[in-house]
Amino acid sequence: MTERLIVVLGDQLTPQISSLRGGDKERDVVLMCEVWEEATYVRHHKKKIAFIFSCMRHFASELRKEGWTVDYRTLQQTGRSSSFTGEVHGAVLRHEPQRIVVTTPGEWRVLQDMRVWPERFKVPVDIVEDDRFVCSPAEFATWAEGRKQLRMEFFYREMRRKTGLLMDGDGPVGGRWNFDRENRKAAKPDLLMPRPLRFTPDTITQKVLSLVAERFSNHFGDLEPFWFGVTREEAEQALVHFVTTTLPRFGDYQDAMLEGEPFLYHSVLSIYMNVGLLDPLDVCRRVEAAYRSGQVPLNAAEGYIRQIIGWREFVRGIYWLKMPDYVEENYFGHRRTVPEFYWTGETDMACLGAAIGQTKREAYAHHIQRLMLTGNFALLAGVSPQALHEWYLLVYADAFEWVELPNTLGMSQFGDGGVLASKPYVASGAYIKRMSNYCASCRYDVAKPYGPDACPFNPLYWAFLDRHREKLAANPRMAQMYRTWDRLSDERRSLTLASAEVFLDKLDADTSPEKAAPAVDSDDIADTIVRLCTERGQGKTLCPSEVARALVDNDDQWRDLMPDVRRVAGTLAAQGRIRVSQAGKLVDAASARGPIRLSLAPQKKSRSRFS
Ligand SMILES: Cc1cc2nc3c(=O)[nH]c(=O)nc-3n(C[C@H](O)[C@H](O)[C@H](O)COP(=O)(O)OP(=O)(O)OC[C@H]3O[C@@H](n4cnc5c(N)ncnc54)[C@H](O)[C@@H]3O)c2cc1C
Ligand code: SF4
Repeated sequence: MTERLIVVLGDQLTPQISSLRGGDKERDVVLMCEVWEEATYVRHHKKKIAFIFSCMRHFASELRKEGWTVDYRTLQQTGRSSSFTGEVHGAVLRHEPQRIVVTTPGEWRVLQDMRVWPERFKVPVDIVEDDRFVCSPAEFATWAEGRKQLRMEFFYREMRRKTGLLMDGDGPVGGRWNFDRENRKAAKPDLLMPRPLRFTPDTITQKVLSLVAERFSNHFGDLEPFWFGVTREEAEQALVHFVTTTLPRFGDYQDAMLEGEPFLYHSVLSIYMNVGLLDPLDVCRRVEAAYRSGQVPLNAAEGYIRQIIGWREFVRGIYWLKMPDYVEENYFGHRRTVPEFYWTGETDMACLGAAIGQTKREAYAHHIQRLMLTGNFALLAGVSPQALHEWYLLVYADAFEWVELPNTLGMSQFGDGGVLASKPYVASGAYIKRMSNYCASCRYDVAKPYGPDACPFNPLYWAFLDRHREKLAANPRMAQMYRTWDRLSDERRSLTLASAEVFLDKLDADTSPEKAAPAVDSDDIADTIVRLCTERGQGKTLCPSEVARALVDNDDQWRDLMPDVRRVAGTLAAQGRIRVSQAGKLVDAASARGPIRLSLAPQKKSRSRFS
């Protein structure tokens, strides 16, 4: 009999991870599985799925070489309706473990699933802390307690003291904690610009690429060329390459954007850190060593380390502190859907076309593109932070909810009303012109304030401020902007607002009919739910997406039908015809967050006429 079933998730690919540390190679079994539900609950970028599956398969073989018994379930084995909990259940039946051990997942939804495992499987479950971070959620909560405002800068100083990184006794090296002022240079095209290290797919990756091409053809983004590293050794090579070639100028050009340069002086290491192939603290120590040996300037080393022990740790702290309500927050009450061109990259705004185009090709955009192009535009246009959260979660290869959600909803959309950022990150075209060369090739004129040829960021920026005056005017960091707006003539203000309105009307009209929610009668949805649940059989569950897919021919449209399917499922559950559950527990279809499952309501035993 197996002593422990050690469950390792796709972003826990670290040999020293807490779940494996106390394990026994002779008596334990490691379970890793590729599951349909996780790969499809948002339509992740094809490159992201390929990256994670390939890293998982390589990690499984690394563990086997180290002597572990690994029960690895490929997508071909787990099948189209596989769920994570279902796979663990199967493994419990196969291995009959005395207990299950798993490291805390990076997503609140998955943690809730795990919490019902003991009752569901009748096996004790140890959910152990993920200690690959500098600050635990409990430590962050203690730091946050009683503070009026949570500001990254103060948290970052604590992390510097705690880790000793770039410290000179009790004070910061160089006499300052932060060298950001030096880090705002605009970059110029340069033929010698370093590029991230590229890797050729091996046989394992090639098999994964075929699988993804076959099964996820309707997902966002280009699958090939695929060049990410997928092993610890490759991630290590990418780190060495970054520190020696790119880091020296990371600081100077951290906020810059250049046409045709998707990576500039960024490290492209978040993918490796986020799945566990690189240890973030080790990365910081290597960066510090490069500074101490004189290879890189202080502003570069400090700027880089701040991103990791500052921002990365800070957003994780906020995530665990504020979930589950955080994901629903919408300070400005924005409702607009994600613009059509966010899916295609087809827009005449050169800056957004570049950022979204490279997102499709590379599953990557650097921070300023995410924040000041796609994020800024969405905020100015009034896109729902929840819709945008889903977009960011699916388009980037490094997107995991603990890091993506606070960055999107908090930092970029100010959806939390200022928990994470002290003011909304909004800017007009002038900022984009200053930090990039996109405007030179754009059909719009960045200098025009309104009218059909004006850079759309300009009128949208002022219209946003005008629309949300009540919520923002009291913010001292916004006061200057309101003074500028108020000084403009009435005529100029109304032309600006009218220009923004015309632009937004066109944006809405451009939502193509195929993308619009398909009209399906509620009765048809109800019939399909009941039919599929009946076909699946008593006690078995199905995903609402199976219902949506069964109802529309167009593969792109089923997602738009999902709210209707959930709504009708709620009605059927209220009528007692079906059950709606999450991780085995009955839930309300309308308010439940994350994936739900549908099943036939248990048949009431009809009393025999003769009894
Ligand atoms: C709207 C929005 C969504 C984002 N979504 C994600 C996401 O899903 N996953 C993710 O890892 N990062 C996310 N970020 C943060 C940041 O944009 C990425 O970490 C960075 O672009 C990754 O590229 P890089 O490795 O080249 O980073 P570099 O520019 O080289 O930065 C170095 C490292 O610092 C860390 N880092 C930098 N900024 C942040 C930050 N704000 N939050 C957390 N870590 C940070 C990353 O680990 C990164 O690898 C998001 C930012 C915004 C504005
Ligand atoms: S003019 Fe406006 S839309 Fe065009 S690239 Fe510049 S900022 Fe972007």
